Amino acid sequence: MLNIVLFGPPGAGKGTQSAKLVEKYNLVHLSTGDIFRANIKGATELGMLAKSYMDKGQLVPDEVTIKMLQSEADKHPLSKGYIFDGFPRTHTQALALDHFLATKNTGITMMLALEVDEEELRSRLTERAKISGRPDDADPKIIQKRIEVYQEETMPVKEYYASQHKYKGVHGVGSVEDIFIALCNEISKEQ
Ligand code: ADP
Repeated sequence: MLNIVLFGPPGAGKGTQSAKLVEKYNLVHLSTGDIFRANIKGATELGMLAKSYMDKGQLVPDEVTIKMLQSEADKHPLSKGYIFDGFPRTHTQALALDHFLATKNTGITMMLALEVDEEELRSRLTERAKISGRPDDADPKIIQKRIEVYQEETMPVKEYYASQHKYKGVHGVGSVEDIFIALCNEISKEQ
């Protein structure tokens, strides 16, 4: 299996690149942000809970997020692999993911990271707010909070994979196609 953690701060382009990677490598795309937003739209209990955190730029609690991710992954038992987009975002989530994949006799192949500087991120998120309709993109204070949460809680996840020599960083500024080619180059080294 090819199991990729696609990593990067809010606005790094994970969603855009995931769509291309999924198509090329025939993988299942699991975006925790997308799943939460679908639940909010469907007004489920999980959606209401997630919304109360997302609207403030905070992380949804680990226990809820991990359970949801596992049940989504289990919907695709015959998959050739997964792209985890927006997950794991905490050290606890990373440990849970390893444990979960081990029960399926597989593991994370690599973490691919989109590296984008903060100023570029802020401007991308402000632009995205005009079309996405996402409340968490519309308010600069919430954007700031998400960047802080990323630095404090999510950056340690990079070290987790780096210590296993699984971290591969790619410069995330440039054309969508050039960044995609850079990601594919990293994948081809592992295959
Ligand atoms: P972005 O990367 O642009 O912040 P996402 O769609 O990945 O957007 O996430 C939006 C929000 O959903 C996050 O700010 C957080 O509140 C929640 N969320 C997404 N993934 C996770 C996760 N793995 N753990 C906890 N909360 C999450």
